[in-house]
Amino acid sequence: MFVGHYGVSFAAKRAEPAIPLWVLFIAVQLLDVLWAPFVLLGIEKVRIVPGFTASNPLDLYYMPYTHSLVAAIGWSVVAFLAYRLAVRSAPPRAAAIVGLAVFSHWVLDFLVHRPDLPLYDNTAKVGLGLWNLPALALGLEALLLFGAMWLYLRHTARRTAMLAFGVVMLAIQAYVFFGPPPASDKAAAATALIAYAVFAVVVRALERRAVP
Ligand SMILES: [Zn+2]
Repeated sequence: MFVGHYGVSFAAKRAEPAIPLWVLFIAVQLLDVLWAPFVLLGIEKVRIVPGFTASNPLDLYYMPYTHSLVAAIGWSVVAFLAYRLAVRSAPPRAAAIVGLAVFSHWVLDFLVHRPDLPLYDNTAKVGLGLWNLPALALGLEALLLFGAMWLYLRHTARRTAMLAFGVVMLAIQAYVFFGPPPASDKAAAATALIAYAVFAVVVRALERRAVP
């Protein structure tokens, strides 16, 4: 899953408005934000196999440190503790929401990935494989993103820019699904990392503008 993860960011922001949106943008993608440098360093592995799934060519055959269930739980706890340490004034509930946002990544990935998500280490792999039904997968991403964004926007001013940002994100997702495959495994990882960073920077700017 890609932009659908951000639906969790908007829902979490509604639940705990004190958490900056950009923090939640990083939190919901943290497992991928770690996956990208791990792939670039050769610690985790992916190969590009055109046609591997109906919507993307990623054969994610080795990612025990970021996308196993055990690792996802571990990184969620790390995020909880990091937020508690970094924002000492924040209530424990806010840190818990950040931790849950991190964990939501694995749950949503489970819906769309083919069985490439290990329960632990590199074994007992699961995934419901919605990526093989691209229209349904893209519809789910759009529903999560815009459904939760609407919950958030109902209570803010200046909605147009955020909605436009959502449309751009979904367009990028459609390009990933239906455009040409990435040039290499490292290119896929680098592109993902850049996209996550840019999205977080943009949402930070939009949130600042939205404060009336
Ligand atoms: Zn992922």
